[in-house]
Amino acid sequence: MKLKKKLGADNYKPLDVILSRGQGVWVYDIDQKRYMDCLSAYSAVNQGHCHPAILKAMQEQAQKLTLTSRAFRNDQLALFYQDICELTGSHKVLPMNSGAEAVETAVKAVRKWGYEVKGIPENRAEIIVCADNFHGRTITIVGFSTDPVSRSGFGPFTPGFKIVPFGDAKALEKAITPNTVAFLAEPIQGEAGVIIPPDGYLKEVREICSSANIMLILDEIQTGLGRTGKLLAEEHENIEADLTLVGKALSGGFYPVSAVLSNNEVLGVLKPGEHGSTFGGNPLACAVARAALKVIKDENLVKNAAEMGKYFLDGLKKAENNQIKEIRGKGLLMAVEFKPGAGGARKYCRNLQDQGILCKETHDNIIRFAPPLVITREEVDWALDRIIPVISKSE
Ligand SMILES: *Cc1c(COP(=O)(O)O)cnc(C)c1O
Repeated sequence: MKLKKKLGADNYKPLDVILSRGQGVWVYDIDQKRYMDCLSAYSAVNQGHCHPAILKAMQEQAQKLTLTSRAFRNDQLALFYQDICELTGSHKVLPMNSGAEAVETAVKAVRKWGYEVKGIPENRAEIIVCADNFHGRTITIVGFSTDPVSRSGFGPFTPGFKIVPFGDAKALEKAITPNTVAFLAEPIQGEAGVIIPPDGYLKEVREICSSANIMLILDEIQTGLGRTGKLLAEEHENIEADLTLVGKALSGGFYPVSAVLSNNEVLGVLKPGEHGSTFGGNPLACAVARAALKVIKDENLVKNAAEMGKYFLDGLKKAENNQIKEIRGKGLLMAVEFKPGAGGARKYCRNLQDQGILCKETHDNIIRFAPPLVITREEVDWALDRIIPVISKSE
């Protein structure tokens, strides 16, 4: 900890636990104390820590070929496209590495689509986003954040973004102009504290975007790949985005892999040389992602997330504490929100850590619970036996 403090940038404030090993829903610290991981690296390890099938795919591919750059073809890329398109019903894929890069890619693609297909005058494209969004950390992305901590001190920012309240379809409708190219949103706002929009919101948003001829971009980097009890959270309202962004669990936590999925020709506007990434679509990433997707399918993780999520949430709701404002969730993406001034969620996180449960507060007063989707009923019971007493205690 001393070495880290001396040499590292101070841009994170982790809980004081030093992890060295993980398997399934469990992680172990350097003293071999066992914890249940109820954060799952912000939903990147949906398949559980060090999943053996993904590990095997990674080891095998790493011995053969890791990186070619896209200057040459590799024998894994098309197979990855096939697997992910088959699973998600998409028509085109653009592979990147981090989630933020997938967001940036979508922003570039819809702007170009706006100019080339929709006929918007040059440099006038507008993208509508939501208040309290989280889409990553690049300058463009933090430029349209409403969180002062993410934003202040990093300007000047990329122009062309408009902010409307999340969950308010009328506000979106009002913000659209002839220069609007897209609406970008999370189906459930993860970092904002698992904010679930009103029923019917996404459906209404889908209709508004279609009738105004603007692209609906859903950032499913956290909600996608089973987390909310559907493969993609958009399925809760039976809609399809024009562009869907996935990342995080796309590699099961082994490697940064993200992708822009598109169900129409918007990705077709990007021509050779106009966008790219040295590591994007590399054979190691493709092999790892294919194995990670196969685990989601073979182990019925989507169904397990729906069932265990309901069971976990019902259990959490048995907590009795007048400092709790709301307990909510969808699938295995859950949150306990305390009333403002209830002593801070971090204190509860520390107490949970003592009990062998690792989770992280989001904002001052919300704890997110998001264990790996491989969690069993017995493991949920184990967690609830420890969580309920801690969060039922007024601080
Ligand atoms: C984590 C996250 C991102 C950013 O992903 P990185 O891999 O950290 O760049 C973008 N959008 C959402 C919704 C996220 O949860």
